[in-house]
Amino acid sequence: MPLSHTPAPNTPTFPSRLPAVGTTVFTVMSNLAEKHGAINLGQGFPDFACDRNLLAEVNQAMLDGHNQYPPMAGIPRLRQAISQKIHALYGAQYNPDTEITVTAGATQAIFTTILSCVSPGDEVIVIEPAFDCYLPAISLAGGKTVSVSLTVVRDAAGRVCEYAIPWGELANVITPKTRLLVVNSPHNPTGMIWQQADLKRLAELVADTSVLICSDEVYEHMVFDGQSHHSISSYPDLAARSFVVSSFGKTLHVTGWKIGYVAAPAALTAEFRKVHQFNVFSVNAPMQYGIAQYLKNPDPYLALPQFYQAKRDYFRAGLANTEFSLLPAPGSYFQCVDYSGLSIPEASLSEPDFCRWLTTSIGVAAIPISAFYGSGTDSKVIRFCFAKQESTLAAALTRLQTL
Ligand code: GLN
Repeated sequence: MPLSHTPAPNTPTFPSRLPAVGTTVFTVMSNLAEKHGAINLGQGFPDFACDRNLLAEVNQAMLDGHNQYPPMAGIPRLRQAISQKIHALYGAQYNPDTEITVTAGATQAIFTTILSCVSPGDEVIVIEPAFDCYLPAISLAGGKTVSVSLTVVRDAAGRVCEYAIPWGELANVITPKTRLLVVNSPHNPTGMIWQQADLKRLAELVADTSVLICSDEVYEHMVFDGQSHHSISSYPDLAARSFVVSSFGKTLHVTGWKIGYVAAPAALTAEFRKVHQFNVFSVNAPMQYGIAQYLKNPDPYLALPQFYQAKRDYFRAGLANTEFSLLPAPGSYFQCVDYSGLSIPEASLSEPDFCRWLTTSIGVAAIPISAFYGSGTDSKVIRFCFAKQESTLAAALTRLQTL
């Protein structure tokens, strides 16, 4: 029998810090998928194993006795490896001692970034649809979220076919109160990627302001069709005001390890670490030693674009036999589809209802894009994660092709 706990009558009540927040959509959809035995293409995580060499390195680190508190900012060896990786890929120089911090995943990195620089009353610009951890963090810091939406481009049939950066609106919402702008490329959930011209335009936009930037680049190695990831770190004017966040969970197929990092100029890093040390203090030691050793060979992460592009292409080819209308998927491990053209009554459901129906009746879990809008904007677009074994994608496609 499950244990239940009846609140004692004298348990004090208090005003919620996040009254509008429930359980994250990723947990809700994963739980629903599990309950109904659905194939989980909702929450973004690989269903395949990471490299056994990485496991061997982490095991060895534990056996070697790296099991006590590591340095607060991360072990020097890992910070050096991160700094070298950023330099090799993006040409930027971050001092490992003062400009790189290892975090307990990217969500903690983003949370700590926001807490470290947003004061009550400060405005933070977020471009929606946006990953769901940004808004609660801003709210807990006492900041005010200023949302602008990606422009939704529709085809002749009225289906969503593209998203575009709303430059005019972005320019309008920057005020002297703007403390931080959160950007994300490759983008979760749409998969769109920022081009060089976009970053140049961003640099112009913020040039005469004191706006800081939090750049969520966790899908940096998932950029397809021969395109490159353009990191904020490679633009010195932007890098000088930016916290650049990445995730080993994504890059090494170990989302459960909850380990990532932030690269930021020394003055920003100093403020970041003030919060970080009292938030997590330090991040688990053996993973840091293991990853530092494993990163000596860049081949695994350099192979990720081809690895994930093959999955994307396979999944898209399968979806081409359905009435879903596919959005471009140039980056990340997500494929968005517009379901409004399906010739079934469920095509008129809201995104959350459609996803629940898809999970419980068709046996494939997906994520509603409305969950990435503070106001729940519903465009009849849902997100599938294709970071799965081909057999998982094949089984999901068999079910989706019945629609
Ligand atoms: N980043 C993953 C996604 O978008 C999930 C992260 C999480 O569950 N917190 O699906």
